[in-house]
Amino acid sequence: MTDEDDEQAEDYLTWLERFSGEGQLLEHLAGAEPGQTWCSYGDPIEVLVAYTEDSRLLVGRPGVQWNGPAWPKLHVSKIVEAKTRADALPAVKRIRRNRLRTFRRCYYCNELNPPEWFERTAVPGGGTEVVCHSCCGSKLGMVF
Ligand SMILES: [Zn+2]
Repeated sequence: MTDEDDEQAEDYLTWLERFSGEGQLLEHLAGAEPGQTWCSYGDPIEVLVAYTEDSRLLVGRPGVQWNGPAWPKLHVSKIVEAKTRADALPAVKRIRRNRLRTFRRCYYCNELNPPEWFERTAVPGGGTEVVCHSCCGSKLGMVF
Protein backbone atom coordinates (compact mmCIF):
# COMPACT_ATOMS: atom_id res chain seq x y z
CA MET A 1 0.00 0.00 0.00
CA THR A 2 1.57 3.27 -1.08
CA ASP A 3 0.77 6.85 -0.07
CA GLU A 4 -0.69 7.33 -3.54
CA ASP A 5 -3.17 4.51 -2.92
CA ASP A 6 -4.21 6.08 0.40
CA GLU A 7 -4.78 9.42 -1.31
CA GLN A 8 -6.93 7.74 -3.94
CA ALA A 9 -9.14 6.21 -1.26
CA GLU A 10 -9.52 9.63 0.41
CA ASP A 11 -10.37 11.20 -2.96
CA TYR A 12 -13.20 8.70 -3.41
CA LEU A 13 -14.83 9.79 -0.15
CA THR A 14 -14.36 13.47 -1.00
CA TRP A 15 -15.95 12.94 -4.39
CA LEU A 16 -18.87 11.14 -2.78
CA GLU A 17 -19.51 14.08 -0.44
CA ARG A 18 -19.59 16.48 -3.38
CA PHE A 19 -21.14 14.08 -5.89
CA SER A 20 -18.31 15.09 -8.18
CA GLY A 21 -15.04 13.68 -9.46
CA GLU A 22 -15.04 10.33 -11.16
CA GLY A 23 -17.82 8.72 -9.16
CA GLN A 24 -20.65 7.20 -11.15
CA LEU A 25 -24.10 7.34 -9.62
CA LEU A 26 -25.65 3.86 -9.75
CA GLU A 27 -29.39 3.60 -10.19
CA HIS A 28 -29.73 -0.15 -10.56
CA LEU A 29 -27.41 -1.94 -8.19
CA ALA A 30 -28.20 -5.47 -7.09
CA GLY A 31 -27.92 -5.89 -3.33
CA ALA A 32 -28.75 -2.22 -2.63
CA GLU A 33 -31.71 -1.28 -0.47
CA PRO A 34 -34.16 1.62 -0.89
CA GLY A 35 -32.89 4.92 0.50
CA GLN A 36 -29.27 4.17 -0.38
CA THR A 37 -27.48 6.27 -3.00
CA TRP A 38 -24.55 4.27 -4.33
CA CYS A 39 -21.61 5.54 -6.36
CA SER A 40 -18.87 3.52 -8.01
CA TYR A 41 -15.24 4.60 -8.11
CA GLY A 42 -12.44 3.54 -10.40
CA ASP A 43 -12.44 2.34 -13.97
CA PRO A 44 -12.64 -0.64 -13.86
CA ILE A 45 -14.72 -0.27 -10.69
CA GLU A 46 -12.67 -0.57 -7.49
CA VAL A 47 -15.09 0.23 -4.69
CA LEU A 48 -18.74 1.19 -4.07
CA VAL A 49 -19.68 3.88 -1.55
CA ALA A 50 -23.13 5.12 -0.51
CA TYR A 51 -24.95 7.63 1.61
CA THR A 52 -28.20 6.57 3.20
CA GLU A 53 -31.22 8.80 3.82
CA ASP A 54 -30.33 8.88 7.51
CA SER A 55 -26.77 10.03 6.74
CA ARG A 56 -24.85 6.83 7.30
CA LEU A 57 -21.93 5.94 5.04
CA LEU A 58 -21.77 2.50 3.44
CA VAL A 59 -18.80 0.92 1.74
CA GLY A 60 -19.22 -2.20 -0.39
CA ARG A 61 -17.32 -4.59 -2.58
CA PRO A 62 -18.30 -4.52 -6.25
CA GLY A 63 -18.99 -7.67 -8.18
CA VAL A 64 -20.59 -8.59 -11.46
CA GLN A 65 -23.15 -11.30 -12.14
CA TRP A 66 -23.53 -12.50 -15.70
CA ASN A 67 -27.21 -12.91 -16.43
CA GLY A 68 -26.76 -14.43 -19.84
CA PRO A 69 -24.09 -13.47 -22.35
CA ALA A 70 -23.16 -9.81 -22.65
CA TRP A 71 -25.50 -8.70 -19.82
CA PRO A 72 -23.38 -8.07 -16.77
CA LYS A 73 -25.22 -6.88 -13.67
CA LEU A 74 -23.30 -4.98 -11.02
CA HIS A 75 -23.94 -5.99 -7.43
CA VAL A 76 -22.65 -4.95 -4.04
CA SER A 77 -21.53 -7.29 -1.24
CA LYS A 78 -19.66 -7.23 2.06
CA ILE A 79 -21.25 -3.91 3.01
CA VAL A 80 -19.53 -2.06 5.86
CA GLU A 81 -21.37 0.69 7.71
CA ALA A 82 -19.56 3.76 9.03
CA LYS A 83 -20.74 6.74 11.04
CA THR A 84 -18.10 9.15 9.82
CA ARG A 85 -15.76 9.61 6.94
CA ALA A 86 -12.82 8.69 9.18
CA ASP A 87 -14.58 5.40 10.01
CA ALA A 88 -15.26 4.71 6.34
CA LEU A 89 -11.74 5.33 5.09
CA PRO A 90 -10.15 2.06 6.28
CA ALA A 91 -12.98 0.08 4.65
CA VAL A 92 -12.56 1.98 1.36
CA LYS A 93 -8.83 1.27 1.45
CA ARG A 94 -9.25 -2.40 2.34
CA ILE A 95 -11.98 -3.17 -0.21
CA ARG A 96 -10.16 -1.25 -2.93
CA ARG A 97 -6.86 -3.03 -2.17
CA ASN A 98 -8.49 -6.48 -2.15
CA ARG A 99 -10.32 -5.74 -5.36
CA LEU A 100 -7.20 -4.43 -7.16
CA ARG A 101 -5.38 -7.63 -6.15
CA THR A 102 -7.85 -9.64 -8.24
CA PHE A 103 -7.17 -7.60 -11.42
CA ARG A 104 -5.02 -9.28 -14.08
CA ARG A 105 -3.32 -8.16 -17.30
CA CYS A 106 -4.52 -9.74 -20.52
CA TYR A 107 -2.00 -12.01 -22.26
CA TYR A 108 -2.82 -10.41 -25.62
CA CYS A 109 -3.68 -6.72 -25.17
CA ASN A 110 -1.99 -6.14 -21.78
CA GLU A 111 -5.05 -4.27 -20.46
CA LEU A 112 -5.68 -4.53 -16.72
CA ASN A 113 -9.03 -6.27 -16.15
CA PRO A 114 -11.21 -7.13 -13.15
CA PRO A 115 -12.02 -10.83 -12.67
CA GLU A 116 -15.44 -10.61 -14.32
CA TRP A 117 -13.79 -9.50 -17.58
CA PHE A 118 -11.22 -12.23 -18.12
CA GLU A 119 -10.87 -16.01 -18.38
CA ARG A 120 -7.97 -18.30 -17.62
CA THR A 121 -7.83 -20.26 -20.80
CA ALA A 122 -5.54 -22.34 -22.99
CA VAL A 123 -3.77 -20.33 -25.66
CA PRO A 124 -2.25 -21.46 -28.96
CA GLY A 125 1.32 -22.61 -28.38
CA GLY A 126 0.44 -24.23 -25.06
CA GLY A 127 -0.12 -23.09 -21.50
CA THR A 128 -2.92 -21.30 -19.75
CA GLU A 129 -3.04 -17.52 -19.72
CA VAL A 130 -5.30 -14.71 -18.54
CA VAL A 131 -7.22 -13.43 -21.57
CA CYS A 132 -9.77 -10.58 -21.48
CA HIS A 133 -13.24 -11.20 -22.91
CA SER A 134 -12.57 -8.91 -25.84
CA CYS A 135 -9.45 -10.88 -26.83
CA CYS A 136 -11.18 -14.21 -26.10
CA GLY A 137 -13.52 -13.21 -28.91
CA SER A 138 -11.09 -11.61 -31.32
CA LYS A 139 -8.07 -13.89 -30.77
CA LEU A 140 -9.60 -17.22 -29.71
CA GLY A 141 -13.06 -17.14 -31.30
CA MET A 142 -14.83 -17.60 -27.98
CA VAL A 143 -18.35 -16.18 -27.61
CA PHE A 144 -19.75 -14.61 -24.43
ZN1 LIG B 1 -7.18 -8.53 -24.10
